[in-house]
Amino acid sequence: MSKKKILTNLNLFKGDGDELINDATIMIDNNMICYSGPSSDFNASSNDIEIYDLKGKTVIPGMTESHAHISYTNNGPLELDKTPVEEAMIKTVDNARIMLGSGFTSAISFGSIHRIDVFLRDAINSGRIPGPRLLAGGRDISAIGGNADTYPDYAKPQTEGLAMITDGPWEIRKAVRTLWKNGVDVVKVMIDGELISLQGRPGDLGYKDEEVEALVDEAHRKKMKVACHARSAAAVKQAVKSGIDFIGHANYIDDEALELLIENKDKIFVGPGIAWEIAFLENAEKMGYSQESREVNAYREEVEATIVSYKRMKKEGIRILVGGDYGLDIAPHGTYAKDLEHYVNLFGFSNAEALHAATRFGGQAMDSEGSLGTLEEGKLADLVVIDGNPLEDITILQDHDRIEGVMKDGLMYKGLVNNKNPYLTNSEKF
Ligand SMILES: [Zn+2]
Repeated sequence: MSKKKILTNLNLFKGDGDELINDATIMIDNNMICYSGPSSDFNASSNDIEIYDLKGKTVIPGMTESHAHISYTNNGPLELDKTPVEEAMIKTVDNARIMLGSGFTSAISFGSIHRIDVFLRDAINSGRIPGPRLLAGGRDISAIGGNADTYPDYAKPQTEGLAMITDGPWEIRKAVRTLWKNGVDVVKVMIDGELISLQGRPGDLGYKDEEVEALVDEAHRKKMKVACHARSAAAVKQAVKSGIDFIGHANYIDDEALELLIENKDKIFVGPGIAWEIAFLENAEKMGYSQESREVNAYREEVEATIVSYKRMKKEGIRILVGGDYGLDIAPHGTYAKDLEHYVNLFGFSNAEALHAATRFGGQAMDSEGSLGTLEEGKLADLVVIDGNPLEDITILQDHDRIEGVMKDGLMYKGLVNNKNPYLTNSEKF
């Protein structure tokens, strides 16, 4: 039997509201929170207790990376599956440790190279390696010429780890069944294109409605979730009407798309995946695109449109998640918390609202039964110990030296990112 753990002398952002409770205590029994609130109201009544004195540090709920590509190996955006699968698997183990160490205790995959996510999830769940709770993705389902089939045939690189190119309702159902057979939790589908692609832009819908409807029907029949890449208003409308669960990007929203999102706001989650677009604009010249190039102009306009769209969606109470296509050279693993800074700076979120996107709403997206996302009693014990107050400065979440500890499922980890020997960290005292 494991001991009860008490974390005390901390400032608590419980996540069910905006406030910080000063001088708070959390008690954890096994992997569940059994008390969280002011220390003055807390009475310990057991001898079998392990106490962590957090010396005034801040505790927030574990965050969710809701557009995760743990198997991406920091390649360029047009060579996502360039790394051989053997090497990618090993790097993915590192990425999972880095993600957990960055304060992200959960991750919703938006696509995995080969079957890496499934094996990764199982290794994490069995305790062999540290990593976030993971809804495992599979290869991206895309139409011919869709966003995962981004090169014309004459220019195609010799990689085949990421895309499942499939057309027609029955072929698509077969692809979904194949993913299910291989243990996937989330099916990722490309609804429209990408500005940087050699073909297929935002607004170019790869599939007819009946194809996407078949995909979602088959996935839901198999109790899998569906995530999509949908940038244009037309793509968002197709996604919402088809019953897709997680809409990635949604950069261009018109009145009709917004209306549909509002009608479905109890079922749907949206996230911009904005970090790499900002990084693209910051690094364009290094990547070989001049400031006057079509791509730079187009992404600049897309970011402007995204700002307008997300302000509108936020106002209507659409649940916006944190998660940003990290795992690219320009937006590498470990920098996930940059999203929260972008939400504050670009979309007008308060620091508390950015935290809610990362914690409460991320938890709801991970588990609709409500076991995750806040530090209320009865929830699973996933939390982050921070040196400093993110309600005052949201950027401190990006500093791995200030992530003092991460608890997942009642187990405390320290130094997962920076420590030279991260496997010696379970339950290490503060
Ligand atoms: Zn993505």
